[in-house]
Amino acid sequence: MTEIKATNITWHEGHAGRAEREAIVKQKGVLIWFTGLSASGKSTIAFTLEHALVERGHLAYALDGDNIRHGLNKNLGFSAEDRTENIRRIAEVGKLFVDAGIVTCTAFISPYLADRQAARDVIGAEDFVEVYVNPSLAVCEERDPKGLYKKARAGEIKGFTGIDDPYEPPTDPQIEIDTGTVSPREATSLIIGLLEERGAIPPLNK
Ligand code: ADP
Repeated sequence: MTEIKATNITWHEGHAGRAEREAIVKQKGVLIWFTGLSASGKSTIAFTLEHALVERGHLAYALDGDNIRHGLNKNLGFSAEDRTENIRRIAEVGKLFVDAGIVTCTAFISPYLADRQAARDVIGAEDFVEVYVNPSLAVCEERDPKGLYKKARAGEIKGFTGIDDPYEPPTDPQIEIDTGTVSPREATSLIIGLLEERGAIPPLNK
């Protein structure tokens, strides 16, 4: 846990609660945390899921690694320390989104177990669904949509996850998806099924 630096600050409790907000949107706030190697398909699935949920009339929002690094986290690089701070901020933002009643999808490599555990602790285990997007490294490298693996193999990028920086796989993810064989649509259906089971969203036609 990062210490609070500021002194003379007091938590101010709001007057409208999460349950009241959730009643308005007829869903429960939840965080779908996608983790996996670069090019494993996290963003593709997160955005497909967001779209499918919004089309069904739900409030959903995808927070994507590269997008967040253009704004909120533009001052962070890829050192272990910065990766940890990247995930800490996302977890805190995700917590606010969940409190707002939003089905939130986060797509970050989030390679370190301890960082993902810290995110789970910040958000609360009951609101945290870990999705391990797990095609083989060979599949990711073959896709290489941004040419990053090629650069990493050539030594032009240092500290690239899966090549010369570790990826620590989840030990007990709620869902594991091998995108080598499962399409983004199929992955989305799987996750929507889980959200229905958990009562985060009502089943269709109810
Ligand atoms: P990540 O967010 O994990 O870095 P992206 O979603 O940005 O990965 O990139 C994954 C690439 O793999 C995209 O070009 C996507 O079109 C492709 N792809 C091929 N098959 C799949 C699949 N079954 N699921 C997700 N992405 C897939």
